[in-house]
Amino acid sequence: MLGLGPLVTRLASWLHRRDVSVWYDRLYRLPLSGIEATAGIEPRRADFAAWWLGASGAVASGAFRRPHRISYENLARVHAPELLESLGRPEALAAIFSVDPSDVPVDEVMTTVRLACGGTLGAARETLHTRAPALNLLGGFHHAAPAVAGGLCPVNDVAVAVATLRAEGLRGEVAILDLDAHPPDGLSACLADDPDVWIGSLSGSDWGPLPRADETALPEGTADDAYQDALAALLSRMPRPRLAFVIAGGDVLAGDRFGKLGLTLRGARDRDLLVAAELDGVPSVWLPGGGYSDQAWRALAGTGMAVAAASREEIPARYDPMSARFARVSAALSPTELTETGDLTAEEIEEDLGIRPRRQRLVLGFYTAAGIEHAFYRYGVFDHLERLGYRQFRAELDAQGAGERIRILGQAGGQEHLLVEAVLERRSVAGVDVLYVHWLSLRNPRASFSDVRPRLPGQEAPGLGLAREIGTMLARMAIRLGLGAVVFRPAHYHTAYAARHAFEFVDPARQGRFEALVRDLAGVPLLEATIAVAEGKVRMDGAPYAWEADEMASWLRESPVEPGEVERERERVRFTYDRG
Ligand SMILES: [Zn+2]
Repeated sequence: MLGLGPLVTRLASWLHRRDVSVWYDRLYRLPLSGIEATAGIEPRRADFAAWWLGASGAVASGAFRRPHRISYENLARVHAPELLESLGRPEALAAIFSVDPSDVPVDEVMTTVRLACGGTLGAARETLHTRAPALNLLGGFHHAAPAVAGGLCPVNDVAVAVATLRAEGLRGEVAILDLDAHPPDGLSACLADDPDVWIGSLSGSDWGPLPRADETALPEGTADDAYQDALAALLSRMPRPRLAFVIAGGDVLAGDRFGKLGLTLRGARDRDLLVAAELDGVPSVWLPGGGYSDQAWRALAGTGMAVAAASREEIPARYDPMSARFARVSAALSPTELTETGDLTAEEIEEDLGIRPRRQRLVLGFYTAAGIEHAFYRYGVFDHLERLGYRQFRAELDAQGAGERIRILGQAGGQEHLLVEAVLERRSVAGVDVLYVHWLSLRNPRASFSDVRPRLPGQEAPGLGLAREIGTMLARMAIRLGLGAVVFRPAHYHTAYAARHAFEFVDPARQGRFEALVRDLAGVPLLEATIAVAEGKVRMDGAPYAWEADEMASWLRESPVEPGEVERERERVRFTYDRG
């Protein structure tokens, strides 16, 4: 984790900052609790990029714009009524996003999709007016055809924006530069009848020729230099348009789950800088397209830095956007909102003396139930739970064995459900006073297990997709209490995997083996990987490997773990898994 202080000072004066607009809404996050586990998508990508661009100073706070949901009238300019009608059913949306239908709150998902389309249209209108580039942090749904949705694309935001602007009188050439790692099949189908559209594309997969598209299929693993050459060639064939759309796909990065190219973050930034220079003076809309790796948000934030400030500045590798964000929220929370402090009243003195029974239970001697509820609200967790269909939240505190238990309950369907349960204790680990998490369960009882979303080891209900938020909140709690770390024992691979951004194993060799396991299972979906590890089907250096449920810590001051030792073990061991 890294504080933002020095960085902000360093980036405070952006010499070349342009007057870009950045289109973003917190509802850009897809409210699909299983999508991270099943499809390997980071639903917080737009949030992370927006937080970084704002906090680093790359984009002025006044540059952010909130989109309106696109109208069905505009969607119908491109899409068949049957398709649009089908998007009102959970089964159709579940198939598009590869999740279980029970995990689809239809109205909320369509709000996200329609806001993204509204962002693309709004960005296009603004850039036509100002001629300054506009970045929409969700969009580039290039696989959706007029009557067929597909590949995470329910509708085609770019085609809808073009058709709407045409209806409003836009004339002249529109260029679409599709630099996502996959071919623009939906764009090609949607825009077949517009003679003044040019589609240019570089892909890492060959899906055959597409009508109306200048498509180059690059070999698998194409790296920065060869990509740059192909891009320069493509740009030389691009007409100088009246309006340009750039799909700056994050799935061009090496290690992406679905994209087959091999760019580095630097290479992706150079791509964006080259295109931005070429489009200087041309109204342009920039879109993220796909991106299915831990690094995808960095590619998108990098696009923002390239477009807004022509910057080659790297985002620090250790920077964790959620920790930085929560630290800012936490700084704005006063301790009195979390606990009862201040002058003691006569009643409290009587309670302390045991004359009067205590009214309040304090978790870890500090947090009241009201304080916990307020923190869940301020960190945005109740917002997400509401989008998943829950209401009327309350916190309950009690003792549980060695620890103290926090439970968050919420209502749905006329019933109260347990959503979050944690059992916490102050304890000493490796000589450090830590917040020890005996038990943590995040439950989405409205969703059900299925073939798409099988039960993970240790789960009694599907998860909420909020492990990263809750882990970061626990870290803020430990900091507030003056503790040095949050520690827990991951009983399964998937729990360690979900915690890996902020936690590391206390034992460096164990951490090295874990990093090797994550590296060697990168191509395997998380659900399959965790079951394979639990069932002993993964081998380490040829021998069956049994999961080691050792302690993991999120160190809040300095990590006592020696990176050299981690790296040695990581490079020493190899894991194999035969999927057959
Ligand atoms: Zn893609």
